[in-house]
Amino acid sequence: MTEETRESELLRQAVSAIPKPLIRQALIGVPVLFELAVRLLLGDVSGAGHYGEGLLLLVVATAVAAVAGRVPAWLVAALPWVDLAAVGLMRLVPDGNGLGLLAVLPTMWLAADRQLRGVAMGFLGTLVLVSLPSIGYYGMDPAWWSRALLIPTVAGMCALTVAGAGDLWARQNRRLEESRALNAAIVSTVDVGLVAVDDDGGYRAVNPRQEQFLAVAYPEGHRGLAGQTGEIYGPDRVTRLLPEELPSTRAARREHFRDQLIWVGADPAHQRALSVSAGPVIDVDGAFRGSVLSYHDVTDLMAALRVKDEFVASVSHELRTPLTSIMGFLELVLDDEVVSPSVREQLEVIHRNGERLLGLVGDLLLTAQAAEGRMPLTKQATDLSALAEQAVEQLLPRAAAKGVTVRCDLAPDAMLLVDPLRARQVVDNLVCNAVKYTPVGGTVVLTVIDLAGEVVLTVRDTGIGIAAEDRERLFTRFFRASEAHDLAIQGVGLGLAICKSIVDAHGGTIELDSEVGRGSTFRVRLPRVNVEPSLVPVSAGASGSSAASLRV
Ligand code: ADP
Repeated sequence: MTEETRESELLRQAVSAIPKPLIRQALIGVPVLFELAVRLLLGDVSGAGHYGEGLLLLVVATAVAAVAGRVPAWLVAALPWVDLAAVGLMRLVPDGNGLGLLAVLPTMWLAADRQLRGVAMGFLGTLVLVSLPSIGYYGMDPAWWSRALLIPTVAGMCALTVAGAGDLWARQNRRLEESRALNAAIVSTVDVGLVAVDDDGGYRAVNPRQEQFLAVAYPEGHRGLAGQTGEIYGPDRVTRLLPEELPSTRAARREHFRDQLIWVGADPAHQRALSVSAGPVIDVDGAFRGSVLSYHDVTDLMAALRVKDEFVASVSHELRTPLTSIMGFLELVLDDEVVSPSVREQLEVIHRNGERLLGLVGDLLLTAQAAEGRMPLTKQATDLSALAEQAVEQLLPRAAAKGVTVRCDLAPDAMLLVDPLRARQVVDNLVCNAVKYTPVGGTVVLTVIDLAGEVVLTVRDTGIGIAAEDRERLFTRFFRASEAHDLAIQGVGLGLAICKSIVDAHGGTIELDSEVGRGSTFRVRLPRVNVEPSLVPVSAGASGSSAASLRV
């Protein structure tokens, strides 16, 4: 809390400690004192009329108001009437005074307390206690008549306004209360943990579900401040999160994030997986007022994902061994001269499909290994341009058959320390996709740029493009973009996931720019390692050319 808000809070508390009737008496007493002071200054101290009785009545009423909590309630309720009587008396002086106007105040208080009934009471009270005595005192003079009528009328109008405003306020307050009750019911019923933190990271509100999560994460108790470390772990379930990595700290730092995965609980067998999102609370002036965090229990989902990964890993592993053996024997049969041409043709179809199946099983196994965080790499100095050229050469027949032009612009000797098989897999997948998702007459351009700290491989196509909403999930396993589905282009959605795992394992990044109907650009950045090209180039042929154009 800032110094300024603390001061205004103290002031608010001090004011609310004063009894309401006393404040009302003060409001009427101040103008009376002011009027009296002016009259004393002007030397008008005649003491004629009923001013003195009225003033005495007002003093008594103020004294009662000062002890409002300790006197009977009816006495306090009668104060506006006493005030009206006091005003009625004080204005009865020979030359008259303006104090009759003060009748407006008690009338408004009656209206505030009793709405329309109070308006009627105030009007009649003013008429009887202020107007009629003045007619009795001053006689039937038309000037006094008009005042006698105007004062209750003005007081009644003011009271009507107060009653209307009070009614509006009461209705709005009731609506506010209803919506507050509804919100409270929703917040306490939802199966999502919710926390509101202020701009200092203090917990302002926590719902019952979140209290359960806090009990698991903080067996020793939580102090209600963001950044407290506890039994909170990262996605690997064993690395404890540092204070600055905790979702609450990030939220208090004004970060807006979605789906941060954390595990809570000391006992690995009973840990819960929570997906945490946070968004800022911005007030009407646009100022940051804290954040709201939501904690969604995704333990069952994580368990299901793990089962799926294990299933994929074990199935692909179990399939690979017999499939490799089938392919081996098939090749032996194909090598045999006695096989008739028609049978050979059929065996070659089996061989082609077997190879596809083996490739698929290999992909599944690789993604399963990557999901477990182990990607076997055998790194060596590799010329990425040469790799890219080989990949394009191999793909040319397929691209030609489809009527797609493939062009290359390759920096010579783009040497990197990478696993050449995996790097080739990345290039193959990206270029294959580019050709696959580019319609007849389109172009695919492959470039390798050799920069000081990195080598950048770019595959650009003029194909179908990828919708913005699909891009976030594009690199997850088995995901296929809507355009690919709509156009019934075959695929299983593993290639890009493999590319990402391989690039990640090499410490690189993969980026995508795309526009539906205009094409896509995949950009892979791999950290540059200064390797002498002459030492260990891994490639079947050197890239040589700085710009090669292949028309297929
Ligand atoms: P697959 O191509 O087998 O479906 P990938 O993982 O290689 O699997 O690609 C995932 C999805 O990304 C594809 O299904 C396709 O929707 C989209 N995609 C990949 N590359 C391109 C591209 N160059 N142009 C348009 N869409 C692409």
